[in-house]
Amino acid sequence: MDRSFHESLPTRMTTLIGIDLGTTNSLVAVFTDAGPQLIPNSLGEMLTPSAVGYGDDGALLVGRASKYRLLTHPALTAARFKRYMGTNHEMVLGKKSFRAEELSSFVLRSLRADAEAFLGHEVDAAVISVPAYFNDIQRKATITAAEFAGLKVNRLINEPTAAALAYGLQDRQGESTFLVVDLGGGTFDVSILEMFSGVMEVRASAGDAFLGGEDFTDALATELGRQLGVKPEDVSREDGARLRALAERMKVQLTEAAEASADFALKGEARRVTITREKFDEITDPILKRLRLPIQRAISDASLKADDLHRIITVGGATRMASVRALVTRLFKRFPEYSIDPDHVVALGAAVQAGLAARHKALDDVVMTDVCPFTLGFETSIQVGEGKYEPGHFTPMIERNTVVPVSKADVVAPLYPTQHEILFRIFQGESPYVKDNILIGTLNVPLRGGPKDDKSVELRYTYDTSGVLEVEATPTATKKTERLVIEGNPGSLPREEIEKRLKALAAMKIHPRDQQENAALIARMRAAFENSLGDKRASVGRLIAEFEGVMARQNPREIAEARRNIEAIIGNFERDDVF
Ligand code: AMP
Repeated sequence: MDRSFHESLPTRMTTLIGIDLGTTNSLVAVFTDAGPQLIPNSLGEMLTPSAVGYGDDGALLVGRASKYRLLTHPALTAARFKRYMGTNHEMVLGKKSFRAEELSSFVLRSLRADAEAFLGHEVDAAVISVPAYFNDIQRKATITAAEFAGLKVNRLINEPTAAALAYGLQDRQGESTFLVVDLGGGTFDVSILEMFSGVMEVRASAGDAFLGGEDFTDALATELGRQLGVKPEDVSREDGARLRALAERMKVQLTEAAEASADFALKGEARRVTITREKFDEITDPILKRLRLPIQRAISDASLKADDLHRIITVGGATRMASVRALVTRLFKRFPEYSIDPDHVVALGAAVQAGLAARHKALDDVVMTDVCPFTLGFETSIQVGEGKYEPGHFTPMIERNTVVPVSKADVVAPLYPTQHEILFRIFQGESPYVKDNILIGTLNVPLRGGPKDDKSVELRYTYDTSGVLEVEATPTATKKTERLVIEGNPGSLPREEIEKRLKALAAMKIHPRDQQENAALIARMRAAFENSLGDKRASVGRLIAEFEGVMARQNPREIAEARRNIEAIIGNFERDDVF
């Protein structure tokens, strides 16, 4: 790093960092006088795989080492946990099980340590990006993950909005309307933004929180299993992890090539699998089709036509796939732009937002507004006959694509004058029936007085710039406000549980940062050993023994040199076919 760069870093000791917490990879960046800058991890890489696991010494490993150990130690390693954010699903690692907030907190802790090492001072606050289509429970879970990592969330920024900020900054005086298609590992978002004289306004967002590049990998793993005569769910965890890793590698190869082949070691024998781009497109077509609806909805919600869009920007690693690019090109009759690396752009945008929040002078003419991507409301009953009411209907309070922050209130009366309480059930979604929408939480409001008293209640929804909802209810008679308590929602952790888990997490042993490179290389060699057969396997075995010998001598220069040499050899092995 050169001196002038360090001199351009913000001098205040409270630097806000920008984090892209991704399904497959995560990144951290900071805003400087020179613009947004990515921060490398302890391996010198910008992308930290979102993978967490126990190392041989029982300490937690985050990033590349864990990504390799997914192949050799699947029972001790976890990945793709962002998909479980805001659910009560726990992933088992050895003898303990963890929620997505906890696993994500290890990634955030690692990014925070990288930022602190880079900046030379402590960091305790961040702007974190989330899929625009993350619901309220998923957003609150992300804030909890940050709290577990000792980070205060200054703001959650929607991923496509972050991407647009990074692009918009390149041409800040321009006037244009752009559409951002963001297909990451696990989520899909579409946003339409309008930019004029430094003001960036999100007009509409749509998406699918459960659709991403990983679904394409899963479909290919199933196809490869079919060719091998096994079902991915029926093979051992180790073989399943290797099969999925092979599917991931072949999927990426198909982005460039018309066909991909590899040998897969199964029961001590190398078996050949082959897939053409045509076949891959055929088996993934049902997934591809799901991209259309959110794109169409965003355009119609913004009251635009495809021709009104000046720029089409693609973001997220999975938009590199030929079929995705072809779909976008077909829909808009032009090629999408991707001048900023699709893996980096969201983190860079999160850093721009951090710069905006810190009122960085280089951004004093930039203003950004966002919208809430879905409708928020509550359950009501409608009268279906004399004294007969039917529950289950959805009454919207904040319509989708309303500019945030927003606060809206309505006065609601109980159905019967004899009622002692009203149970508000808060939902998110677009269906007229609550059963098809997502329950966010419940709010129980006690009512005082007799049948003749005023029992109406003012219900207020406030949606902040992070897309986090607060609901308050105030009985007209008492003026005593009740706040939304997330109850009966397994996706949210109650406050006492957060405190308890925070203590347990703080006590966990984390692998030392300065030994991450060695840990990653050993994990990589072990994966190469398991993935190979015959002579190659024997060579990898010799390399492992050699490196362990070097490590035992504890000479940092010798270790660094051995690492460089071995990495080059392993890199060549990995390019070979046997997997
Ligand atoms: P992101 O969350 O933006 O890092 O996107 C990760 C997703 O992009 C994963 O599903 C990757 O498999 C996928 N991906 C990354 N690079 C490529 C590529 N060259 N071809 C196809 N898919 C890719």
